[in-house]
Amino acid sequence: MKDFKPANEIQDLQYFGEFGGVNPSISDSSTYTFLSAKTMFDTFEGNTDGCYLYSRHSTPSNLYLSEALAAMEGTESANVTGSGMGAITPTILQICGAGDHIVSSRTIYGGTYAFLKNFTPRMGIETSFVDITKLDIVEAAITENTKIIYCESVSNPLLEVADIKGLSTLAKKHNLQLVVDNTFSPLSISPAKLGADVVIHSLTKFINGSSDTMGGVICGTSDFVNATKSVIDGASMLLGASMDSLRSSSILKNMRTLHIRMKQHSKNAAFLAEKFESIGLKTVYPGLKSHTSHEVFKSMMNKEYGFGGMLTIDAGSLEKANALMELMQEKNLGYLAVSLGFYKTLFSAPGTSTSSEIPADEQKEMGLTDGLIRFSIGLDNDIERTYQMMKESMLEVGVLKPEMV
Ligand SMILES: *Cc1c(COP(=O)(O)O)cnc(C)c1O
Repeated sequence: MKDFKPANEIQDLQYFGEFGGVNPSISDSSTYTFLSAKTMFDTFEGNTDGCYLYSRHSTPSNLYLSEALAAMEGTESANVTGSGMGAITPTILQICGAGDHIVSSRTIYGGTYAFLKNFTPRMGIETSFVDITKLDIVEAAITENTKIIYCESVSNPLLEVADIKGLSTLAKKHNLQLVVDNTFSPLSISPAKLGADVVIHSLTKFINGSSDTMGGVICGTSDFVNATKSVIDGASMLLGASMDSLRSSSILKNMRTLHIRMKQHSKNAAFLAEKFESIGLKTVYPGLKSHTSHEVFKSMMNKEYGFGGMLTIDAGSLEKANALMELMQEKNLGYLAVSLGFYKTLFSAPGTSTSSEIPADEQKEMGLTDGLIRFSIGLDNDIERTYQMMKESMLEVGVLKPEMV
């Protein structure tokens, strides 16, 4: 783990454009010619490396981005997709069929939760949702039909941290695939190096970082990635959530600054989390010693990228949370918006937005309170000024009492 340097792995790749350009050429084509009919047949059979077939299968631009992402995660291969959900759903359907079972963290992205809870049962795939931080509970949920342990490295929105090494040991013992969504912690955590079999990202968030596109990626062994792309029975190929070449080329360019951005997101989030906690706000940030999984995160992390850009505070009630978010937006401290990984701070109340797929009683059980605000901290150059203005906003709407500061 110590000698794996994900940013170096990205930097050491070298691609030139068709005319010696410093960026690879964009393959602006949906289909590809063959010099001989035999090669076309072989390519459909999957026997010809380096031949492009049709852009839903793969394109040169998608392969450049996929290679960069595989290098970042330290996996053999990767395949980019049209969105994060377009990576998650084919991965699950590639591994599971009717009669199979999944053990999933109960605190996961709302869309993934809805897919596992409401959609896959229609295909005879059942999921048990568990507290992923308790390995004994995870193991107890495994049945003879279980195929996958599913989790997020750092969970949405409660920022629970999965012990990936521990989960990987369980997965190997029971012959399961450990699938980890690493969207919240790119570069900071390298799940494959800790034993994950498949690593997924929504590129829509930190990796692209400019909130101008959707994207996703499946990182894993060449066998698995190729299986998802098979023209015969590959879930990515057949469900069709492929990425467009123009988008993959723009994401690749943004990805080159990911390491600088992650350091700044983490630095700003750590600063604010410490300040918020010190004035008595209920603050959740994996970098705080008070975080229940602080030590687990520390034991897994690539130190230079910090504990990430996500934090939550409890404003006390939904009314106060809403008033605070509206005021912060008015003061241009950030935007009241879902999603994450933007240069501006983004904030939302997960209970009524990104996690609204989760029923109220289950939200309560997992500790998702009404007044919870999720922050994706931006790249602000003067975070001290941001803090002062946020504090004033909190005083104004009554989230902070004057005697607290
Ligand atoms: C946003 C998100 C997704 C879904 O990604 P899309 O690109 O919106 O499809 C999946 N997992 C996590 C953790 C996310 O934050």
